[in-house]
Amino acid sequence: MKQEILQRALERIELLATVSDAPEGLVRTFLSPANREAAELVMEWMEGLGMEVCHDVGGTVRGILGGSADAKPLLLGSHLDTVIDAGKYDGALGVIGALAALEVLRDENVVLPFPVHVLGFSDEEGVRFQSTYLGSRGVIGELESWQLEQRDMDGLSLSEVLENEGWLDDAETIFYDESSSDGYVELHIEQGRVLEDADEAACIVSGICGQVRLRVVMAGQADHAGTTPMDLRRDALTGAAECVLALETMAREHSPLVGTVGQIQVHPGASNAIPQVAEFTVDLRHPDDEALEHHLGELRNAFDAIANRRDLDFGWEIVQQNGAVDCDPDLTKILLASLESVTGAHGMLPSGAGHDGVILSTVMPIGMIFVRCQGGLSHHPDEYAEPDDIAAGIDILVEFLKRWKP
Ligand SMILES: [Zn+2]
Repeated sequence: MKQEILQRALERIELLATVSDAPEGLVRTFLSPANREAAELVMEWMEGLGMEVCHDVGGTVRGILGGSADAKPLLLGSHLDTVIDAGKYDGALGVIGALAALEVLRDENVVLPFPVHVLGFSDEEGVRFQSTYLGSRGVIGELESWQLEQRDMDGLSLSEVLENEGWLDDAETIFYDESSSDGYVELHIEQGRVLEDADEAACIVSGICGQVRLRVVMAGQADHAGTTPMDLRRDALTGAAECVLALETMAREHSPLVGTVGQIQVHPGASNAIPQVAEFTVDLRHPDDEALEHHLGELRNAFDAIANRRDLDFGWEIVQQNGAVDCDPDLTKILLASLESVTGAHGMLPSGAGHDGVILSTVMPIGMIFVRCQGGLSHHPDEYAEPDDIAAGIDILVEFLKRWKP
């Protein structure tokens, strides 16, 4: 790859990392001003490649590079939203890497015999609505009524946000079903330590772990922190604390199960008041769907017992559940050959993290490329991938595009 193409990709990653809703650190959530600004930047870059560009009402952007009109398009892409205080590479790499791969092909005067659609999804992380993949769900027409009623921290429902903050002006419908395409391929950082330990720049993904997200509420009684004896309290937060530890113990005892409480809110939230309500999230993942279902049931029983013993009211809502997804064998075979031609390796890994491919896999075959990231660190400002490894990821995409036959 020409050095200038890699340099441009690296500069774009740096530039996108400055587009944030927070004065310090990187935050871009669903349909936020920064998320839309990032989408506009990406659309500019797509136009620079001569792509036909549009966005949908939910802020997902798409660039189409023509090819033979009667061939089905190949889809590339990733997400443009981030977690709070995010790293630069998660998501951005997949979109910018796809554009760089197309630049390499243009530079080599390669005209692909099929159209390529590059997608930048507006929501994969699910920070704003605790409901991930809103971008990719939108493009397969799978935003269901219950999701439209989900509310953000300000109490706004998704349908209200789409109406008030959505990209209504000149929005187009981006839609894919079973007959639209034979493949979606995403380039992403590994977000784990396996490639680093193996001293490999990249690998191909075998599949994506199943995942459940819950919203749990423990409710007791607010009371005076000074006058209420300990044995008369119905403290929602101590109940929630016990649940957090029960989850940790369960996951530690049942590897590869992983469980996390990443958010907790306490009401009334005063230093001199006993907490009346503690509301928290649970994220539970396992590569095997049956095992995940089993542990979910156990967890519910454990939380229920804690609530009973403490005389607390207990609420449990599954906000999102995605089964484990396998990457497509035929697509993966071509990706593996492309990996081998670039790095000489032929490694495969399952992904513990969810990706947009989970949703797209319901209507088309999917494949993924992982690139090594330093220390496996992700969802953190120190997230880092070496330029040489990014170059390898882009080159694997280039090789794949040359080999792919729709
Ligand atoms: Zn990601």
